[in-house]
Amino acid sequence: MRNVIIIGSGCAGNTAAIYTARANLKPLVIVGHEPGGQLSITTEVENFPGFPEGVMGPQLVENMKRQAIKFGAEYIMGKVEEADLSKRPFRLRIDEEWHECQTLIVASGASARWLGLPSEQKLIGHGVSSCATCDGFFYRGKKIMVLGGGDSAMEEANFLTRFGEEVTLIHRRDEFRASKIMLERCKANPKIRFLTSTVVEEVLDVDKGYVTGARLKNVKTGETWTQDVDGFFLAIGHIPNTRPFAGQLDLDEDGYIVGHGGARTNIPGVFHAGDVEDRIYRQAITASGAGCKAAIEAERFLEANGHH
Ligand code: NAP
Repeated sequence: MRNVIIIGSGCAGNTAAIYTARANLKPLVIVGHEPGGQLSITTEVENFPGFPEGVMGPQLVENMKRQAIKFGAEYIMGKVEEADLSKRPFRLRIDEEWHECQTLIVASGASARWLGLPSEQKLIGHGVSSCATCDGFFYRGKKIMVLGGGDSAMEEANFLTRFGEEVTLIHRRDEFRASKIMLERCKANPKIRFLTSTVVEEVLDVDKGYVTGARLKNVKTGETWTQDVDGFFLAIGHIPNTRPFAGQLDLDEDGYIVGHGGARTNIPGVFHAGDVEDRIYRQAITASGAGCKAAIEAERFLEANGHH
């Protein structure tokens, strides 16, 4: 029986772990299929306060984990298959084993979204990627395509020009969701070419078993054509990891947790932290702040219920 289980090892989960561990609650942190969360697949973080020279995302999140372990947090790898939040203690099935806890902090984040084209799915890892930081290196001197019109797409396109001979940024609309500074940086980069009002119909070539190109369509003119490309990078947003909690925690239409003030969910004793509830800010610092809030609330909840 645990005082607190934290699901997720990104900024939110790690910060909740630091705080609950320092409060002597001996938290158990469940590390899922994306250890370290979104920071572990970014490059340089320039806006996390306290690092005037910037810091590498993976390093920052690893530091947080080390800090939590120093105070007694325990980390295990595993997938939350099932959750029973109908009464306390809450029960979680992680892989084949059931774990019990008095409080639960859901910091399971949001995972990269895919287009869902069969050709794209078949070519994941063979030229199709959702992580420029992880895979950019493989496309030295090659042709690269980046999909999306938000800050992630801009960041990835810019980053990939370090490797690629040319980067084509494909966006389905004419207007961009990306912040002005990131968009301007891309527009000023001579290696980046913009194709707007353009969608991807198919990634080629499934028969060859690796990416050779993409069939594109201009949604305004209806024109379709094929463009040669070696690396196909998606940066089209994220999907919250809340599946085991559907029907128990209040979720919105996209699956994000609906907050009930502070870090509270609709179930007393279950708290949220980070991107799993946040579709607006989604920053390392806001996720860390949310992890801190959730930890303090879990601590107070345990105290009020005579557990600590
Ligand atoms: P986002 O802002 O939600 O943008 C997703 C983009 O993908 C949108 O342009 C969207 O098009 C497009 N898209 C979604 N589904 C699509 C589909 N099925 N087919 C084609 N295009 C599709 O996501 P994000 O760029 O990952 O950013 C998320 C948050 O993190 C934002 O708050 C952002 O500011 C922040 N962020 C900040 C930084 C930074 O400051 N360094 C870096 C990265 C991210 P539409 O525009 O047409 O909807």
